[in-house]
Amino acid sequence: MRVVYAQPAYIQTLGQSTAIAEHVQVDFELRGCPINKAQLLELLNALLNGRRPNLSSHSLCFECKQAGRVCVMVAQGTACLGPITQAGCGAICPAYQRGCYGCFGPADSTGPNLAALGQALWAHGCTEAEIQRLYHSFNAGTPAFQNLTLEGKS
Ligand code: SF4
Repeated sequence: MRVVYAQPAYIQTLGQSTAIAEHVQVDFELRGCPINKAQLLELLNALLNGRRPNLSSHSLCFECKQAGRVCVMVAQGTACLGPITQAGCGAICPAYQRGCYGCFGPADSTGPNLAALGQALWAHGCTEAEIQRLYHSFNAGTPAFQNLTLEGKS
C-alpha cells in the first residue's frame, strides 16, 4: 500500500472494488491508467469503420526493440516487468532509464511467464523481497499473479 498509494485514506473501500466486467458487458478493454491516446483513436476509428481494432497483444519488450532502445535490465541491471507486461504505452519508463512496473497489466499474447522473469531478475541481483514487491503492486489481483511462487529462491 505504501508503494502504490501515497495517501491511503480510503483504502478500506477497495475491499468492495470489483472489475466492471463483473457488472456490465464489456466490449473492449484499453489498458493503462491513463490509457494511451493513440490506442483510443485506433479503437474509435475501428469501431466507426466496422473493423477489428489493430492493437498489439504482445509484451512491452517489443515496443522497446521497435524504438531501438537498449534494454535497461540487460545493460544496467534495472529490474523491469517489460517481458510480462502488455504493450501499448510506448515503453515510456525504459525510455527514461527506469524499469517498467507493469501498469498496463499482464501481456495477453502467451500469458506472462512470471517464473522465468523471476529467475532473470534474481540473476540480475534482485532479492526475493524486491521481486515480490515488484510482482505484488498493480497486478497482484490478476489471475496470472495470484498464487505466485518463486521456485528455487531461498
Ligand atoms: S510502468 Fe510499464 S506499462 Fe506502465 S507506463 Fe511505464 S513502461 Fe509503460
